[in-house]
Amino acid sequence: MAVTSRPGGIKITEFSSICQSCAMPFMKDEDYGTESDGSRSNIYCTYCYQNGKFTDDNCNVEKMAEIGAGMMSQMFGMPLDKARMFMQNQISPLKRWSGRIVPSCQSCGMPLFSPEDAGTEEDETPSYRYCVYCYQHGAFTEPDLTQDAMIEKSAPFIASQLEMSLDKAKEMSKVFTSTLSRWK
Ligand SMILES: [Zn+2]
Ligand SMILES: [Zn+2]
Repeated sequence: MAVTSRPGGIKITEFSSICQSCAMPFMKDEDYGTESDGSRSNIYCTYCYQNGKFTDDNCNVEKMAEIGAGMMSQMFGMPLDKARMFMQNQISPLKRWSGRIVPSCQSCGMPLFSPEDAGTEEDETPSYRYCVYCYQHGAFTEPDLTQDAMIEKSAPFIASQLEMSLDKAKEMSKVFTSTLSRWK
């Protein structure tokens, strides 16, 4: 199990809803990689990480984005250069490349890079689960929002950004948002 030492000796268990090397969303148990003692990795997928080691030591962000872009472009019908840009944005903040886990909003998927991106709990401390747009003062800003309604709202933006069809944008949004804890 991946454990990080924090100053003060408090150990926290790391977890992520996507692989922190290639950005693949974890859908099922078999998607997770393994540590050297055979236990399950909480942050890396089986394609990237086995027996406590990366399967490809010489990989870098560009190489990883290229592989991911090919798959995304085929699956969701977006131009390869847009897919490459999208994958670079997805992959470069991941722990393998940035050295830290950037939490993402478990409602909309937005990465929480800085405290200003984070929502607030009831006692006004920053939430590391939800972003400022989704969650304020310990409650969802839109408590009745459903996963489908959120997809409907975000799909036109994704479609125009990535030059893909609205249907494919919805499909892609569904895959990504389904790993978020608010919708599980
Ligand atoms: Zn991976
Ligand atoms: Zn959010």
